[in-house]
Amino acid sequence: MIGHGQLAQLNALGYYRGRVALFALLKALDIGPGTSVLLQAFTCVAVPEAILATGATPIYVDVEPQGLTLDADDLARKLRPDSRAVVVQHTYGIPAALDRIMAVTGESLPILEDCCHSLVSRFNGAPVGSFGVASFYSFEWGKPIVAGIGGGAVVNNEPLRHRMLQHYHQFRPPSPVRELKLQLQYLAHKLLYRPRFYWPIRRLYHLLGTLGAAESSYNPVSPALVADDFEMRIARRTGRRLRRQLLGVQAHAAHSRRVAEQYRLWIESAAVRPVATPTGAEVVYARYPLLAEHKQQLLARARRAGVELSEWYSSPVHPLRREELAQVQYPAGSCPEAEHRCRQIVTLPTSQVVSTRDIDRAVRFLNTVGQRDLRGGQDEP
Ligand SMILES: *Cc1c(COP(=O)(O)O)cnc(C)c1O
Repeated sequence: MIGHGQLAQLNALGYYRGRVALFALLKALDIGPGTSVLLQAFTCVAVPEAILATGATPIYVDVEPQGLTLDADDLARKLRPDSRAVVVQHTYGIPAALDRIMAVTGESLPILEDCCHSLVSRFNGAPVGSFGVASFYSFEWGKPIVAGIGGGAVVNNEPLRHRMLQHYHQFRPPSPVRELKLQLQYLAHKLLYRPRFYWPIRRLYHLLGTLGAAESSYNPVSPALVADDFEMRIARRTGRRLRRQLLGVQAHAAHSRRVAEQYRLWIESAAVRPVATPTGAEVVYARYPLLAEHKQQLLARARRAGVELSEWYSSPVHPLRREELAQVQYPAGSCPEAEHRCRQIVTLPTSQVVSTRDIDRAVRFLNTVGQRDLRGGQDEP
């Protein structure tokens, strides 16, 4: 559970985005050119972007067989003498196997927990975010708490926290124009977003992102664009909203537990199967993941049926296409499990706005789409 200490820290160390919080942590750890940072494949471009912005090299580690979180055995294989930190991601709220990971890293290699999908999940009885030297968070669309574009850090190590607070004045607030844009975008999301409007809104959002009218989650990996974002703290109003919303984090968690439990009990479709989670993981899902053998056909059906079924991550470094992966130094084929999982994964929403009717619709949709039915369809790109 996220306690008062963590809440106070999130308030003190608010950054423009989750990736900026990670960047600040890496800088405070003196990570830069000539060093490397390990991270899992099956992630968001934000993570390698933050590593690359420091000048360090990202080293990609595969996920567990049938799972979505870091594989400790592959971590042991990929460690290098110049490695200075490991980013451990709790994908969709599923805690990574921290016991096995910490057995590999020992005392010498700091762990930074990517808690962008997980505020309250636990591993072996302890809350995620309490295992590493620090953790970082994101509060934009699709995360457990949506406050708008924004992120934060929680530091468990006293000297590191001191350094983070010392450096914090270098992060400027967004300009008034940007602040206005961010607040409008938040309002639009709050007013419009419901699971049954997922597909049309998604199209609109991508269009606005392309036109530059909305802050897309996936900035192009261009040094010029990146540099500006990486010098900013959280917008003032987003920070205030976040403080209010974090007080309700337990209610959010209770809701997503109920929703996920209903998906688990009621979905009996042959078209999908559940994901493996590490032993000791107590999961509060940010999204409910399923593996589909015919992912693209299933997504096409869901779009036609108006059911929110999301495709991310559709790439080992989402949303980069195969030919773009070199931009974030991902060697194609280096994490076969992660690449396979991208071709299978679909997720259902568990957030506060998911109603009983939305759950019914999603369950009915999945249970009536037969496996045989899908195999016949054309694989859409
Ligand atoms: C969203 C996300 C981030 C970064 O979030 P931003 O606030 O967009 O920078 C990092 N890691 C994961 C796993 C995420 O899903």
